[in-house]
Amino acid sequence: MALTRILAALLALPLCLAAQAARPVVAIGGIVHETNTFNPKKTTLAGFEEGIRGAEGIVRGQKIIEEFSDANSTTSGFIKGAKENGLELFPTIIAGPQTIGTVTDEALDTLTQELIERLHAAPKLDGILLFLHGTMVAESYPHADAEVVRRVRAAFGNDIPIVVTSDFHANVSEEIVKLTTAVVTYKENPHLDAMQAGELGAKILAQTIAGKVKPVQAIAKPPMNYNLIFQNTDEEPFRTVTEESRKLEKNPKVLAASVSGGYQWADIPAMGPSVVVVTDNDPELAQREAKRLGDMLWATRDRLNLDLPDAAEAVRLAMAAPEGPITLMDTGDNIGGGSSGDSTFILDELLKQKATGWVVVISDAEANQAAFQAGIDGKFDMLVGGKTDDMHGNPVRVRGRVKLLSDGRFIETEARHGGGRYWDMLPTALIEVEGSTRDLPNLLMLTRKRVIPFSLHQLISQGVSPERQKILVAKGTIAPRAAYGPISKQVIAVDTPGITAVNPKHFQYKHVRPGLFGIE
Ligand SMILES: [Zn+2]
Repeated sequence: MALTRILAALLALPLCLAAQAARPVVAIGGIVHETNTFNPKKTTLAGFEEGIRGAEGIVRGQKIIEEFSDANSTTSGFIKGAKENGLELFPTIIAGPQTIGTVTDEALDTLTQELIERLHAAPKLDGILLFLHGTMVAESYPHADAEVVRRVRAAFGNDIPIVVTSDFHANVSEEIVKLTTAVVTYKENPHLDAMQAGELGAKILAQTIAGKVKPVQAIAKPPMNYNLIFQNTDEEPFRTVTEESRKLEKNPKVLAASVSGGYQWADIPAMGPSVVVVTDNDPELAQREAKRLGDMLWATRDRLNLDLPDAAEAVRLAMAAPEGPITLMDTGDNIGGGSSGDSTFILDELLKQKATGWVVVISDAEANQAAFQAGIDGKFDMLVGGKTDDMHGNPVRVRGRVKLLSDGRFIETEARHGGGRYWDMLPTALIEVEGSTRDLPNLLMLTRKRVIPFSLHQLISQGVSPERQKILVAKGTIAPRAAYGPISKQVIAVDTPGITAVNPKHFQYKHVRPGLFGIE
């Protein structure tokens, strides 16, 4: 008995080694950029290196495994999926994510070249897994994600399987579908399934390499813009279509069914929602189901009526509300989306309409320094905000007195969007603006840099009691709701102009497909 076991073990040993040596090698890499083409600030290579919120912008080689193994990102999903499916990973480069203006050709060329060089360095390559946001625009390449795949294809040929995983906001195109073996996008907005999408990409690639499946894919692109305001996949009308894609994936012939919302701030032909269905060698099924889900998206258009109050109307509504706080979302100046943080449209209306009990935060280093010069209780009379560009209103004259000066540091202990704990706004000034009453002060906070409004402690730490104020203004669309929602009687999304305006009428589109619903 013992002898048989030893013999069996001895026999199994070389088999194990052989199996291990035969593990398919799959490279992972990514260039991840959500490009707002209306933002005049270009994204350079230095911008990629910088990254966002202190996180490293570009991660290379083995460090990718260390950095992402325990996270919940798409790259984490690649790593997890590769393990589950017996793939050996060859990490190359992950650059991003970023959310600012058009990527320079130089940045795209340099990053893509490094990606290809690193891919060439792999001892052997059975497949490639790419994480591409799906809405990257470079100076000469309106669909830069497709350009990355085209260059990788040019270097490695048409036979190597390439699976791409993209964000829910991807502007997926016919072009990238043709260039890839399979495209998988996140299903959820907010994006809670980034890791699952990465895992699914790895699984499809593993099965393709093993010869178990032969992916074919089809795309449907209804002629519409699906406004961000309606892209909550937990709510109707989007929810039903997302659920349908989940049902479809239960069909064993369907490898992936992705419904993405698209990204309306990229003025390119591929802008808009899409459905990509990947089947196991059944092109007719892929076509039919992509079209069916695309038609479902299209059929919801009578429920996509964008009817938001402008700044003047929103201030009137907030003033007329019997009880506060009423939070006004300054959607055109969404700091998390890369905006300037110094928009004055709502501030101007609050002053004009003589509202009381409001709080506004503006990023304006010059006005901030003037307040520090005046000192506590000093007189303040300055033109505030609207100084970064010409898209966020004019500077507005504000008169009042300096109420508080601080180092601008605060702590957030609760889980808010992004999960930051220690915050540093740099020295910060609070102005009590004329027209205040004893119970309802008008408060203008002046910061030296843009601060994302994800925490109420941004206000509390500066002596503001947000619950007691009548009107709060947060520069964002969805993310600040986690902090402001619970204390607000009502949250109103305001149709303000700016580079992140949700109303497409604020922009001049030149390159989207003609006649797109929701744009024209
Ligand atoms: Zn997204």
